[in-house]
Amino acid sequence: MSKLYSFNIKTPQTTAMIDITGQVREAIKASKVMNGICHVFIPHTTAAVTINENADPDVVRDFLMEINKVIPFDDGYHHMEGNSAAHIKASLMGFSETIIIEDGRLLLGTWQGIYFTEFDGPRQRRVHVKIIEG
Ligand code: ZN
Repeated sequence: MSKLYSFNIKTPQTTAMIDITGQVREAIKASKVMNGICHVFIPHTTAAVTINENADPDVVRDFLMEINKVIPFDDGYHHMEGNSAAHIKASLMGFSETIIIEDGRLLLGTWQGIYFTEFDGPRQRRVHVKIIEG
């Protein structure tokens, strides 16, 4: 058995990491799946999904600061839309995460949260959560 849940998020600025752990937990609760796999996927090319610390907001700040240095916004790119940096960052980070569900709960570590990572905002974005029982 599997179920699909989808939700929208509005990103606030050019780059941002938005904690979506709560929305993913809500989807698992609604599915009533106690044991299985949760796959989080986003249908975008200039945003990503990642798991990282959600306790100290400076982790997010430092992450965005450094990734914007490693892949600068302007670097002689050819892509006419002008958002090549966002495409590169998105592919490097990836568009999905898979998390184990055990006893109705995500098996995330104490300090882990699931982040929607925006690289070309602000925009309206979509997140899909596929929950597979087993
Ligand atoms: Zn583009």
